[in-house]
Amino acid sequence: MSNDIFVLVEHHGGAVSESTSELFGMARGLAESSGGAVVGCLLGSGARGLAAGLAADTVLSVEAPQLGDFVPEAYAATLAALVTDRDPRVLLIANTTVGMDVAGAVSGRTGRPLIAYCSAISFEGGTLVATSQVYGGKLNAEVETGDGAIVSVVGGSAAAATGGSPSVEDVAPPDLSGLHTTFVARVEAESSDVDITGEDILVSVGRGIGGEENIELAQDLAEALGATVSGSRPVTDAGWLPKSRQVGKSGRKVKPKLYLACGISGAPEHLEGMSDAELIIAINTDEKAPIFDVAHYGTTVDLFDLLPALTDQVKAVSA
Ligand SMILES: Cc1cc2nc3c(=O)[nH]c(=O)nc-3n(C[C@H](O)[C@H](O)[C@H](O)COP(=O)(O)OP(=O)(O)OC[C@H]3O[C@@H](n4cnc5c(N)ncnc54)[C@H](O)[C@@H]3O)c2cc1C
Repeated sequence: MSNDIFVLVEHHGGAVSESTSELFGMARGLAESSGGAVVGCLLGSGARGLAAGLAADTVLSVEAPQLGDFVPEAYAATLAALVTDRDPRVLLIANTTVGMDVAGAVSGRTGRPLIAYCSAISFEGGTLVATSQVYGGKLNAEVETGDGAIVSVVGGSAAAATGGSPSVEDVAPPDLSGLHTTFVARVEAESSDVDITGEDILVSVGRGIGGEENIELAQDLAEALGATVSGSRPVTDAGWLPKSRQVGKSGRKVKPKLYLACGISGAPEHLEGMSDAELIIAINTDEKAPIFDVAHYGTTVDLFDLLPALTDQVKAVSA
């Protein structure tokens, strides 16, 4: 086994992702402990040029038509071949949609352990020790593993590293002729009437709103305040609001002047998208809801009582 720390380079539309830069920051610290090199794994078709500027010592560039658009099967087969051939100490993958598709498959193909949702990692006396989020981030588990782990890392776990001048090694792809999946088309996200990332005031609703028929309570308040309605993922998953209104990890990151969280529990994936708001006011009947940990003001009044009353008050004040 080598002492090298491998990093999967995630890229979209000709740009390397921010999460990849964070992985390189994390990899550098690990490589200093292991005594190995930081090695980027750059898969694509016509992507080789992205190697320049990566904060790696070496970049393994694998080019193939099947790697031009993201096909999990092709990525997993290629990464598994690299890991098997080169035997790195650790492979870091961002815990993104792409990473979640690939990390488990590479672990399965290579028989190496997978540590998912990792937020910190180090070598302690030669043992790899990682902190892994469980139960949606409500608890952290500290895990130890032998060498050769695949680790998927949550965003924001390390400072980004950029600006290297790595050497580039071209590596032939494995046989990708027998794939079961083929990339067909990229479908752009639905366009929204509003861009919630640019709004000053958001009235945001969670599962506590109960159903699509109640969204108008938030809509009425938003109209009175000159605000826009956004929501948590269960609300957009259920189709009560368009996907473009979703706040959080897999939605939009917002930073309004006022974020009114109505019937939102405050799961880590939601907080990731709104905790930088200037003023957060939470309405939640559960006094132990984690949203109160980030809220500047909060109330446990039932939202079905409070929203109409608030709307009337705002209308009265602005009349
Ligand atoms: C990979 C991944 C990505 C994710 N991405 C996102 C994301 O981008 N955005 C997101 O939001 N979630 C995301 N999630 C889901 C997230 O983990 C939570 O499940 C979700 O945020 C919970 O939404 P919620 O707060 O609306 O619902 P719940 O957790 O069900 O909370 C509803 C809250 O409403 C309160 N309530 C009920 N009735 C009332 C009432 N009458 N008055 C006042 N309060 C009331 C309850 O006390 C409760 O706290 C993601 C999860 C994963 C695994």
